[in-house]
Amino acid sequence: MTIIDRILCRPCIFCAIADGSTPTTLIYKDDEIAAFNDINPAAETHILIVPIDHVKSVKTMTTDHIPLLEKMHQKGIDLLKERGHDPEQSRLGFHVPPFNTVDHLHLHVVGGVMKSNFRKLKYETGRMWYMDLTQLQTTLDKKRRLQEGARL
Ligand code: 5GP
Ligand code: ZN
Repeated sequence: MTIIDRILCRPCIFCAIADGSTPTTLIYKDDEIAAFNDINPAAETHILIVPIDHVKSVKTMTTDHIPLLEKMHQKGIDLLKERGHDPEQSRLGFHVPPFNTVDHLHLHVVGGVMKSNFRKLKYETGRMWYMDLTQLQTTLDKKRRLQEGARL
């Protein structure tokens, strides 16, 4: 949820989609995660995978979230394969604040032909604005080690 949403008492759109209270069709849902098509796809396939519980962004995560992140990632790979895409050639990742637009954690699962060169850059892992699972795990491990060091 953004600060504007909070001021205007607007509920989080991805919480609403994940709990099924909007017309958005869910591609997948269990008790921890949900998947749905992006409203403005960057490529032939563009799915968003979200935790059901509101987690703000990669910045508010800890190493305790790694099993949830791995589950989201695995579901992304399964959905790409179901749609005939090679996961190795696809772009799974998270926009890092302030380069995101929705403050409910979401994994972009982008496969197939990209719609523009700008979109290619926007969803290119290894950039400061787009992290893949491995980069995020490394960042969370580093954060935990720093916090443990600070407690010594
Ligand atoms: P971000 O910019 O935060 O990384 O990605 C947010 C994504 O959510 C964007 O790709 C945008 O198109 C998508 N999006 C925003 N609002 C909605 C919505 O109401 N429904 C769906 N299905 N996607 C949305
Ligand atoms: Zn939410």
